[in-house]
Amino acid sequence: MQQRTSGGVTFFLTRRQVKNLNLRVRMDGSVAVSAPMRTPLREVDGFVAAHAGWVVQAQQRMAARREADAALPVPDRIEALAGMRALVERWWPAFAPRCPGPMPAVRVREMRTRWGSCSLRTRTLCFALKLWAMPQPAREYVAVHELCHLLHPDHSPAFWAEVARCLPDYQARRALLRAPR
Ligand SMILES: [Zn+2]
Repeated sequence: MQQRTSGGVTFFLTRRQVKNLNLRVRMDGSVAVSAPMRTPLREVDGFVAAHAGWVVQAQQRMAARREADAALPVPDRIEALAGMRALVERWWPAFAPRCPGPMPAVRVREMRTRWGSCSLRTRTLCFALKLWAMPQPAREYVAVHELCHLLHPDHSPAFWAEVARCLPDYQARRALLRAPR
């Protein structure tokens, strides 16, 4: 990984087996660029400079989101864990026939960039503590999202079809997580 600056944008460049240049602003505001092995540096720099305005806007959005997240009340850990476990228990019967074995373990911890995660290896669903500060329909959406990962580990169309089958209004629920708060 190489740190460079172009058009006023400082970014971290990685070379990958990819076809196109790709630019991403991370949650912490840092900029990651991946480039095909043979793309000349001046082309990379030109690409970043051409997207400088977009980068600044994305960084402002991320900063606003970090601020909003920091302002959220920190929920009680025991209450959050009990509540998320109850949600998973309620939905588990819909998944159990296709997921042999016991219900996954449920954990709650501080997570900075995601609302939840699903580990197939440890059979654990993990939820962000601050999810418990979100409206109930949004919490339920995240619980179902992570349960669906037991069937589809990716975000493929089949995964989203499964989420939609469980929660036909999942897009409205997901929007609650993104709305200014
Ligand atoms: Zn997911």
